[in-house]
Amino acid sequence: MVAGPIHMAYILAALLFIMALAGLSKQETAKYGCLSGMVGMAIALVATFVQVESGSGFLLIIVAMVIGGAIGIFVARRVAMTQMPEMIACLHSFVGLAAVLVGYNSFLELGPTVQDTITVSIGDSPATIVAMLDEANKANAAALAAVGTSMSAAELNTHLVEIFLGIFIGAVTFTGSIVAYGKLNGTYKLRVFKSAPLMIPGGHLLNLAALIVSFFLLIWFMAAANPPLFPLVVMTLIAFAFGVHLVAAIGGADMPVVISMLNSYSGWAAAASGFMLSNDLLIVTGALVGSSGAILSYIMCKAMNRSFMSVIMGGFGNEGAATDADEEMGEYHEMKTADVAELLKNSSSVIIAPGYGMAVSQAQNAVAQLTEKLQARGCQVRFAIHPVAGRLPGHMNVLLAEAKVPYDIVFEMDEINDDFENTDTVLVIGANDTVNPAALENPNSPIAGMPVLEVWKARNVVVFKRSMNAGYAGVQNPLFFKDNTYMCFGDAKKSVEEIVSGI
Ligand code: NDP
Repeated sequence: MVAGPIHMAYILAALLFIMALAGLSKQETAKYGCLSGMVGMAIALVATFVQVESGSGFLLIIVAMVIGGAIGIFVARRVAMTQMPEMIACLHSFVGLAAVLVGYNSFLELGPTVQDTITVSIGDSPATIVAMLDEANKANAAALAAVGTSMSAAELNTHLVEIFLGIFIGAVTFTGSIVAYGKLNGTYKLRVFKSAPLMIPGGHLLNLAALIVSFFLLIWFMAAANPPLFPLVVMTLIAFAFGVHLVAAIGGADMPVVISMLNSYSGWAAAASGFMLSNDLLIVTGALVGSSGAILSYIMCKAMNRSFMSVIMGGFGNEGAATDADEEMGEYHEMKTADVAELLKNSSSVIIAPGYGMAVSQAQNAVAQLTEKLQARGCQVRFAIHPVAGRLPGHMNVLLAEAKVPYDIVFEMDEINDDFENTDTVLVIGANDTVNPAALENPNSPIAGMPVLEVWKARNVVVFKRSMNAGYAGVQNPLFFKDNTYMCFGDAKKSVEEIVSGI
């Protein structure tokens, strides 16, 4: 196929990707956003396909797609909704690994590329240096032509930088995402996979040293007459270790920023692959994912009152935070579901604050039924959504939309936080860190400074959870010990269903 239609297809796909991002920004248009993304990707695939000229290449792509697609369908069908965040981290790691492999492939494809170098002394005038560069460029062009490379010396240098940076970003994304996967899964014993931050003494200096050494390796890689493999391999190993250390140093509560940051890195890794493969659509798509991920990271940082730089530098400045999940905080009051039903019958305003536990117990449909029952009794029911509730940006909104809870009673934290003091009863369904007053009261807490839903200001608070265990950040929650808080122990879905039948 001629280049014109392919470029048209690329532009159309890129436009559809932009429409997908715009659509996904609102619940009402999210479905159309997904559809735009899917159509855009289908167009991109077809356009890429028709460019493959040789028959064997075509066959290889089909075989790879069938194997990859089959594995993808098999895994996606088995993944529970609560495992989606881990799966996304896993997929980010594939993008990183792909960028590393594309980088090495691009390097190996180059073959020998003898380059002339220049040595400049302090006494040399600018004119002399320009003349020397000119000579070197001519020699390089001749050398490149001799080995059959059509690139000019300047193009070759740019390509080498693309390869080096692409492999670096890809390697950091690959191992960083694997650590994020382990932290989100929460079942692995290895220390790097624990939700508490792993702070190695002098860790920030190690990060700095890794960056400086990688920079010198880049100079070595570029300056040698024949770009050597050795600095590339050493840099890759350093980048692998850097990715592990960067994410391991981040505590559970800051993981939302890390997820969106790795999302952004995976976009830049894809863009780097696009440069290496000279594929405009991959560059555009990678840049879209990279920049939207960066914007999301910024939004997450603002929502959590974190410094963007502190988080992306591996928890820089968080060393003082202490985790104590078993801290003794006094006595708590328990309430049975029948009593919660009575309390709700006597409430004229209710706010429901859902969290990760609602996703675990799949209580959203029972919660939607409870909402309908209360509304039928004339009670005002609203939902308060913390920006990092659950394990994915928008996790709670997705669950509530699935249970057909109307959008107009679902409010963001900033919209509803002032209303708790005028509310009869708050139902905290499987939320913990996002309703923890320690974030505002204890400057040494790992979640210190994070804005939270101020549920304790309501007349009554009922917390649905199975035990007194801490939330994802591993800190005990003083809310559970307040005089107006009642703990309703058990699986959230079962408890809410009992309450529905009791009203
Ligand atoms: P948390 O993860 O802090 O707490 C969830 C609570 O749910 C636990 O205390 C648990 O208590 C309870 N729970 C679990 N299963 C059930 C069940 N079947 N029935 C009833 N209760 C249950 O939840 P939040 O949503 O408040 O906070 C989210 C945390 O995750 C924050 O720290 C956030 O930073 C982090 N995070 C968020 C991401 C995002 O993008 N949204 C991404 C990564 C991390 P028990 O075991 O006693 O039942």
